[in-house]
Amino acid sequence: MKPYIPLARPSLSKLDHEALATVLSSDTLARGPALRLFEERMATQCGTKHAIAVSSGTAALHLLARGLGITSGDEVITTPFSFVASSNALLYTGAIPRFVDIDPLTFNIDTQRLSEAGSRRTRGILAVDVFGLPADWVNLTSYATDHNLCLIADACESLGATIQGKPSGSWGDGAAFGFYPNKQITTGEGGCITTNSDVLAVRCRSLRNQGRTLSSNRMEHLSLGYNYRISELTAALGASQLERLPQLLAARAQIAEWYTEALTPLDQDLILPPSEKPHATRSWFVYVVQLSDKYTPNARDLLKQALHAQGIGSAPYFPCIHLQPYYRRRFGYQMGDFPIAEKVSRRSLALPFFPQLSLCEIERIAKTISTLLPQLPHKR
Ligand SMILES: *Cc1c(COP(=O)(O)O)cnc(C)c1O
Repeated sequence: MKPYIPLARPSLSKLDHEALATVLSSDTLARGPALRLFEERMATQCGTKHAIAVSSGTAALHLLARGLGITSGDEVITTPFSFVASSNALLYTGAIPRFVDIDPLTFNIDTQRLSEAGSRRTRGILAVDVFGLPADWVNLTSYATDHNLCLIADACESLGATIQGKPSGSWGDGAAFGFYPNKQITTGEGGCITTNSDVLAVRCRSLRNQGRTLSSNRMEHLSLGYNYRISELTAALGASQLERLPQLLAARAQIAEWYTEALTPLDQDLILPPSEKPHATRSWFVYVVQLSDKYTPNARDLLKQALHAQGIGSAPYFPCIHLQPYYRRRFGYQMGDFPIAEKVSRRSLALPFFPQLSLCEIERIAKTISTLLPQLPHKR
C-alpha cells in the first residue's frame, strides 16, 4: 500500500522550532515581545496601520463585528458559501446574516445582487475570499460607501493575495485572518485582525482583553469583553511562519500549477479552479475541483470514498451555511434558497494541498482520479 496523502499538512521549519525554544527558555509566556513582533509583521504584510493577534479566525471576525458596533437586530449581508464561522461570528453579536448567492465562476459573493438582501436594518457586509481568490473588493467598497455600511473582510483564506496591487487584509474596515494548521501559515490555533482605523484597533484590543482600558494599569472594564489573547508561543510561531510566507506561497502556487497540468486532460469531467481574476492575484489555500454536470449529484461523495480507499484524502468544501442543521432550524432555510452555492457545494471536492507535496504525488492523485471517473454514475 502506498503512503496515505492527507488533505493538509503544516510546514514547520527549524526556524519555527528555534522561535518556540526561545520563548520556552524565557520567563515571558504571555503579552511579551513575540506578540509585538508578530503583530508588527502582520501589519507590514497587510500594509495596515494596525494588527491585533487573537486566539482564532472566528475570534477575529467576532471582534470586528463587535468593534464596528454590529448588534442585536442588525442585519449583515454575507455569503452562504463559506466556512460556518463567517456567519456564526455575526450571530454571536445578535445580528442576522442575510445571504446573497455566489458568482458561479469565482465562488465569491455576487456583488451584482447585494441589493437583493438589503433592508432598512442592513448595517454591514461581510465578504469572504473563498479558497484564497479575493472577493470583488472594488465593488464591495463602493457599495458599502454608497449605502453607508461597514465592510468586514473574512481574509482567513487569502493571506498574501492582492487586489489592484493592495494586499488582502487592507480592504474593508477591517480584515480577519486565521492560522489553523491547514492555512497558508499556522500557529496551531490563532488569528489576527488588520485595520487602518485607530478607533477600531483600540476597541478590538480592549475587547480581546476582557474589555479592559488600554491606557492605564487599573483593572477597569469598559465593556463586555473576552479573553481572545494568544500566548507568546503562538505569537512566536506566527512571526516565524510569516517570515517564510513568500516561500510557502510559492510552493503552493507551484503545486496548483502541477495539479492544473495533470488534470487538464480530464477537463470534460472536472471543472478546475480559476487561477487569477482581472486586477487580483490569488493566494492558493486549497485546490478544489468540481465534478461536471454529466455525473449524478452523489458522484462527488463516491469519488471521495474511492480516493480514501486509494490512500488519498479529500474533503467536500464547503457545505452551504444556510443548509446546516442549526441554520435550517433557526431560520427555516431550505434546499433551493441559494441554488448556485448549493450546486457548487454539491459538486466540489478539495484535493490534498500543502507545500511538501511532490510532482510525483500529484501525478499519482491525477492518475487515481482518471481511473475512478469512469466508474462514477452518469445522469441518464
Ligand atoms: C479558517 C477560516 C476561518 C477561521 O477559522 P478558525 O478555526 O476560527 O481560525 C473563518 N472563515 C473562513 C472562511 C475560514 O476558512
